[in-house]
Amino acid sequence: MNPLLVTVAVPVPLYRGFDYLLPASLAAGARPGVRVRVPFGRRKLCGVIVRAPFERVDDSQDYRPLDAVLDDAPLLGAELLALCEWAAEYYRHPLGEVIAAALPGSLKHGDAAVLHRPQRWQLTPDGQQALATLPGRNRAQRSALEALQAGARGAGEWPVAPAIRARLVELGWVASVADDARQPAAVSDPLPLTAAQQLALHELEGGEQGFRVSLLEGVTGSGKTELYLRRLQASLDAGRQALVLVPEISLTPQLAQRLRERLGDGVLSFHSGMSEGEREQAWLAAREGTTPVIVGTRSAIFVPFARLGLIVVDEEHDASYKQQDGFRYSARDLAVVRAQRLKAELILGSATPSLESLHNAQAGRYRHVRLSERIHAQAPPRIDLLDVRKQTLAHGLAPPLLSALDRCLEAGDQALLFINRRGYAPILLCHACGWQAACAHCDARLTVHRGRSRLICHHCGAQQPLPRGCPSCGAAELMPLGQGTERIEQALLNRYPRKRIERLDSDRLGRRHELQRLLDDVRARRVDVLVGTQILAKGHDFPNLSLVGIVSADQALYGADFRAIERMGQLVTQVAGRAGRAGQRGEVLLQTHEPDHPLLRLLVERGYAGLSAALLNERREARLPPFSHLALLRAEARDAAPPMHFLAAARELLLPLRGLQVMEPIPSGMERRAGFVRAQLLVQAEQRSALQSALAAIVPRLTELARGVRWSIDVDPADL
Ligand code: ADP
Ligand code: ZN
Ligand code: ZN
Repeated sequence: MNPLLVTVAVPVPLYRGFDYLLPASLAAGARPGVRVRVPFGRRKLCGVIVRAPFERVDDSQDYRPLDAVLDDAPLLGAELLALCEWAAEYYRHPLGEVIAAALPGSLKHGDAAVLHRPQRWQLTPDGQQALATLPGRNRAQRSALEALQAGARGAGEWPVAPAIRARLVELGWVASVADDARQPAAVSDPLPLTAAQQLALHELEGGEQGFRVSLLEGVTGSGKTELYLRRLQASLDAGRQALVLVPEISLTPQLAQRLRERLGDGVLSFHSGMSEGEREQAWLAAREGTTPVIVGTRSAIFVPFARLGLIVVDEEHDASYKQQDGFRYSARDLAVVRAQRLKAELILGSATPSLESLHNAQAGRYRHVRLSERIHAQAPPRIDLLDVRKQTLAHGLAPPLLSALDRCLEAGDQALLFINRRGYAPILLCHACGWQAACAHCDARLTVHRGRSRLICHHCGAQQPLPRGCPSCGAAELMPLGQGTERIEQALLNRYPRKRIERLDSDRLGRRHELQRLLDDVRARRVDVLVGTQILAKGHDFPNLSLVGIVSADQALYGADFRAIERMGQLVTQVAGRAGRAGQRGEVLLQTHEPDHPLLRLLVERGYAGLSAALLNERREARLPPFSHLALLRAEARDAAPPMHFLAAARELLLPLRGLQVMEPIPSGMERRAGFVRAQLLVQAEQRSALQSALAAIVPRLTELARGVRWSIDVDPADL
């Protein structure tokens, strides 16, 4: 017999697997999903076997042998490996890097996969049944199941080969449960549902079982989370596990807390704020089946589960589900793929669904379940447009907004001011000579950060101290123009010296404990005005707000990105939805220079539903997503010419292919960023399959063409 080879996905940016000789001594454990250590150039890398060993046929090529097999049983089960392969194909990203993204840190580098949580193995109901009907020739499985039934408990006391155990877990016949889980004692009772919730729950749970997607559209405070909890409980009762995705977990510990109170403290989190060790343990616990629920951010879509039955994607419209660099996947879209392959249930929840999901619901692919009333029956907040033209603005705030603030604070109520820009001011200008502070590495201005006395580039992170005078003409006075959160905060501190004004933006996100305290203070009404960025729109529950001021949303009306207005509508609706939750109707003031803009009027008069219907019509006419499919080829280099040449060559490859519209290469919106000159090429197709096969055809050629150019493909790009 010829020597055996295995194909290994190695974490390198190359679009191919690498074949290695499989030494006879290692052959027993080499299966797809098993990690191996391989020589790669002069390095040693940890890769994953992606194909069963096969015989070497041609001996013209030299193969190097594997160094070691690192797992007894596949670390990546068949399901997760297939998901990674699907994602690598769909997003045109090297499989080795996709797999590396799916593994938590230490496992990625080859550390032993050991679940530390005490656990014990149990026969599942399916396992009981299998024991009765299993044919005699499956002796190993039968005796393992019998041993378990006879009362073996701890992992050590159940003598079974890891491969057999893995197989039994895969079959769903055995499951390990945490031995230390203090289950029912901590669990609180569900709330009795309102009539509207009952109806919605009925729609979620009824009808065809197996794979199904429900778009749960409900305004903030309509009781969506309560319905997630019901479906989660049902899933656990059926012996399955569940995954809950949230856009930003450091801001929603309330949700994890609520899940734990209801479902027990086996609920584990998975997000980047945790240590590598914690993440690894949660990952392994889900894989072994010892945790019933994982609640996590985007990357949790790659957590393996022993028996996943339900995925919930909360705030499904949120842009943070799409990874914006490297492996550019959408966790929401992968959730659909994963649920489909597992025949599982998927709930997409939002007060402001994405146009993609609305379109799928209208086309009958998703169930459209609505919750239109708030639980605490107060009317939804009305948004009033505040025409700021010709008004004298004080640090960006118009007199009517300031008087509304005065009234709100006099009554002892809370207010929220939203402005989608952090820092003090986006421009620093010399009134004498017109000089503006610009980034040396980007086509962008530097943002003034007064608190830190620095100028910071929000695109590449470059920083410098605030200059004392004009570097160009020496004038002493420099003027900050425009406003960010810091400036609004400062203006309010000056106006209301005895009130507590707080700021919430990503500059504060790093310090998690401080953030937690701040959110607690807001909920306990110790904060009078909260000034913040879009972070405020992400699913917080601030029960006491009576006034929301939106400093400006006009930027979106001039934006070049075809999604800009959809985003603006979502943001405004989400921020406005924070107002008036407990008992009183909230007041929302939206400052604008464009009070007659038809889409802004539509949003104010007909709400997000009105706006989204109009936008869907526009998209249909313009043949933009969701009525077509896009991929963006990006390229960058130190000089301007190579990216354009590269994209022009790519365009030549694409032009003869069928079913595509290939635009001209153009400089990117901000042409120079972090010292690189950037360009992009947009490819559009009516059929997803045409786009997919075109990309598959050109990628190998691009690698050859890309001399000195960094390039990437973004399938279903979020920003153009
Ligand atoms: P959403 O997720 O849509 O914002 P939640 O599920 O968080 O809504 O519900 C909003 C508020 O109403 C929460 O404080 C929740 O505890 C409460 N609530 C939800 N359902 C009920 C119910 N059936 N009875 C009483 N209160 C409820
Ligand atoms: Zn000057
Ligand atoms: Zn910069």
